[in-house]
Amino acid sequence: MDFPVHMTNEKLEHFYKLLSPDMYDFNCAEKNGGEPYCCDSRHVIPLLYRDEIRWDRQCGVHIWQTLKGEEITKLNLQLEVEPELEVYATCRYAPDCPRKERALICRTFPFLPYFDENDQLVGLTYNFFVEGKCPLVGRMDLKPNADYLKNSCQYWNELLEIFPEDKELYIYESKEIRERFAGEELPVFFNN
Ligand code: SF4
Repeated sequence: MDFPVHMTNEKLEHFYKLLSPDMYDFNCAEKNGGEPYCCDSRHVIPLLYRDEIRWDRQCGVHIWQTLKGEEITKLNLQLEVEPELEVYATCRYAPDCPRKERALICRTFPFLPYFDENDQLVGLTYNFFVEGKCPLVGRMDLKPNADYLKNSCQYWNELLEIFPEDKELYIYESKEIRERFAGEELPVFFNN
């Protein structure tokens, strides 16, 4: 079945290139007993853009095994899915990651974009949905590399031009973070 194209292969490759600098100068697996938390399908089932599945197949990489209705029901996955846009999938390679072929979620987790009071994307915050699970979430002493931070902010700005409804969601979530951390240090890595 053909799905609508939101991101061409060229656009995806541009995003992959933007998100190719190392997120940290250490391997996050060190903080989780040797295996990255987010690569283990017992913990996280990634939600991928259909465009990435198309790219994965056309490039002959075949990292991703997409999940079907019954499998998803059994797993009780919580995010709402737009089936023409996105699909849950598990990685066939973990923990031996083909790093150059990783998906966007692999290159961005556990961060999300942070928007200030003027609705400007000014940095990255954590995905607090996995707080207490991914050992990196909330750790302000573990700073992402400057190249990664800069490129990741550019990536989110460009991505959210394609998906403006998601931008509204992140603006709302950023406001919730300000409320939760009022009077404390914001869990934000600013792109100065
Ligand atoms: S592609 Fe790499 S980073 Fe992504 S889930 Fe698989 S092993 Fe983990």
